[in-house]
Amino acid sequence: MSLFENALKQFNKAADIMKLDANMREVLSQPKRELTVNFPVKMDDGSIKVFTGHRVQHNVARGPAKGGVRYHQDVTLDEVKALAFWMTWKGAVVGIPYGGGKGGVKVDPSLLSEGELERLSRRYFSEIQVIIGEKTDIPAPDMNTSGKIMGWFMDTYSMNVGEPVLGIVTGKPLELGGSLGRTEATGRGVRVCTEEVVKYLTDKGTVSKPMNQMRIAVQGFGNVGQYTAKLISEELGAKIVAISDISGGFYKDSGFDVNDLMAYCAKNKVIKGYPNADREISNNELLCCDVDILIPAALENQITAANANDIRAKIIVEAANGPITPEGDEILLKKGAFIVPDFLANAGGVTVSYFEWVQGMQWYFWDIDEVRKALHRLMKKAFADVAGAKEKYNTDMRSAAYAVSIEKVATATKLRGIYP
Ligand code: NAD
Repeated sequence: MSLFENALKQFNKAADIMKLDANMREVLSQPKRELTVNFPVKMDDGSIKVFTGHRVQHNVARGPAKGGVRYHQDVTLDEVKALAFWMTWKGAVVGIPYGGGKGGVKVDPSLLSEGELERLSRRYFSEIQVIIGEKTDIPAPDMNTSGKIMGWFMDTYSMNVGEPVLGIVTGKPLELGGSLGRTEATGRGVRVCTEEVVKYLTDKGTVSKPMNQMRIAVQGFGNVGQYTAKLISEELGAKIVAISDISGGFYKDSGFDVNDLMAYCAKNKVIKGYPNADREISNNELLCCDVDILIPAALENQITAANANDIRAKIIVEAANGPITPEGDEILLKKGAFIVPDFLANAGGVTVSYFEWVQGMQWYFWDIDEVRKALHRLMKKAFADVAGAKEKYNTDMRSAAYAVSIEKVATATKLRGIYP
């Protein structure tokens, strides 16, 4: 099944639950715009190579399209469509005024020199300029694209239109109008959702341990995993007892000093060889270990029909995108696990991107406290909205999150009407 068909399946499940009107279902099931560009790049050896890129805008009823650009040899239009579709719901669930967009270039960037990467980036951005703009579609980093590339994107667009345009892209370096707090933003959003889910289940009588006695496992120790672990242990006082990355994992019953682990990882690139742990564990042991909360923060398809029955955590907060397969999800829900879905749990990143855009449009920059306060407020409200929908529709949190988002997007689409 294609990724886009998979995405539609999730959407249709929620649309059934909320009895979404058939006309609206048809409108929301397709992207508004799909652009494919084939463009030449001068390579260092004097040859010319033609690359293929895409930019898709799914729905823009609530505001400009927003979403990253990925560079990967397996990028397809189908994948970019699915990712743009998910961005529509992610923006809507946190209530930021964006529609969904996504872009991609079919390229393995590790095979390019710095100069080739810059020429490819600038030409791709010029090619998609016909549909992007600071009030129409705002790209950002995604897989294999960085702040440096966002700087090239911003400069390219600004050169083409003859004035500096900060709002054309987010994820820029601080010196080019990036936002304070963007690096930690996704982890901070996960931390807020983790605090909120424990409060919610405590109120319901399902959980009786206080937050500071919770034992937590985090899979993945990259940007999201590191800040998630750091903020949950420092600010909520919970113990991170298991941690892993691509090189393997560790268990420590008394809880890790996450700053120490981050310093080790900064020096050694991976956590392999970390000395201050009780024992080594495999990634599958990490997923199945005896903890209160499991936070997959690495990559997709980690919990499947093959291991879902062995998962012991009663609460799962999806920091990564798509870490649980639909089959895994079904098994976990039957077992009574409470899952905070990815596009709610990891929406902190796009939320601070929105703050970066607001700052760039106004040429006025916030301090870190302002960023954090606004992020906490939006994430808490999003969690409460989804929990409310879960009760209203008597469903799981994933379908509830879709229902909240679909309702917002459908209402905006309906209020604007079908033109002409
Ligand atoms: P990253 O590349 O910084 O880190 C990924 C981590 O996962 C690394 O520690 C890596 O070693 C680990 N990993 C890779 N393969 C693994 C495996 N087989 N088993 C265990 N660990 C493995 O990426 P990131 O930015 O932290 O993103 C992590 C996830 O969060 C992705 O699904 C991403 O799409 C999602 N996400 C990220 C952001 C963001 O702002 N960075 C926002 C939303 C969603």
